[in-house]
Amino acid sequence: MKQLSLAEDPCPKQILEFQSESKIVLNEENLREILLQPAIKNKQVCIVSIAGTFRQGKSFMLNFFLRYLTLKYKLKKSVPQNWINVEDGDISGFPWKCGSERHTLGILMWPEVFIAEIPSGEEVAIILLDTQGTFDNQTTKQNCAGIFAISTLISSVQVYNLKDKITQLDLEHLEYFSEYGRLTLNTDSSSTHFPFQSLCFLIRDWQYSFERNFGTKGGEEFLNHIFLAPDTPLTLKQQNDNIRNLFEKITCFLMPFPGEKVASAPSFQGNLEDIEQNFLKYVEEFVPLILAPENLVAKISNGNKVKVGDLFYFIKNCCKYFAD
Ligand code: GDP
Repeated sequence: MKQLSLAEDPCPKQILEFQSESKIVLNEENLREILLQPAIKNKQVCIVSIAGTFRQGKSFMLNFFLRYLTLKYKLKKSVPQNWINVEDGDISGFPWKCGSERHTLGILMWPEVFIAEIPSGEEVAIILLDTQGTFDNQTTKQNCAGIFAISTLISSVQVYNLKDKITQLDLEHLEYFSEYGRLTLNTDSSSTHFPFQSLCFLIRDWQYSFERNFGTKGGEEFLNHIFLAPDTPLTLKQQNDNIRNLFEKITCFLMPFPGEKVASAPSFQGNLEDIEQNFLKYVEEFVPLILAPENLVAKISNGNKVKVGDLFYFIKNCCKYFAD
């Protein structure tokens, strides 16, 4: 079957790794190759990251992001509502793996930068990040915090990928990890800027569509139910308020189960025919909410737009803070 041409050598590049239990090391060469290309380094940038517990479909979802980016911004095709087609081949790009072992290590960046024209006529470069899943039993809490904090610091959109629901523990981790990141920003409490930009809770395998429908509307209701419930105990309310004060925009999307073949068949290779239609329908709805030209969130730091080239130094600085 003909595959969509993604990149000549489609393989994500590791930009951050752990050298020992807690030492985070930057792969400067990989980062330089991607971010300091003369043709893009002066463009503004939207950087989308996906983070959360390991083995919950983060890398798999990124491949749909990649397909959308390829169709829309590389092949410059018109992207209708039903943009996922069998004719474009199997899902590929970021490797995902069946089983209980972690797969992605550190932070990976897709080497190809896509250029979008936003409604104002300006160009925005789009970069995708995959992160090592947290709580894989081999990573210390400090390293989990480091990965989550760095990916939140450097992205303009953080997708917090969760399975089934949002628990108080998920929120506790989110607050702890993001707060850890905020401390590196040196912003004083009187600053009018939010430390971080967009946070999207992506709930996988949502089972309660009879209560709240899949998609954005159900997600919004679910989020309100969690953040605005009148009977929330005071300490949890404070935690939730802290999270709301860390991110400029918080959204939620409820995603259906992709089917048994995706969830548990070791033979699953990304064939679209093995994926439930309802899952694909909601992927078709979800991805443009993040990546359509009118929805792109350009990276801002301390009120200033960050250029692709600046991101190189920004990431280097962030890593220094977490280096020891
Ligand atoms: P990551 O560690 O979070 O990046 O997870 P992966 O993307 O590597 O996927 C881990 C496993 O979950 C693979 O077997 C995928 O086929 C499967 N998977 C992908 N998406 C979903 C989903 O939405 N629900 C379920 N139950 N499994 C999924």
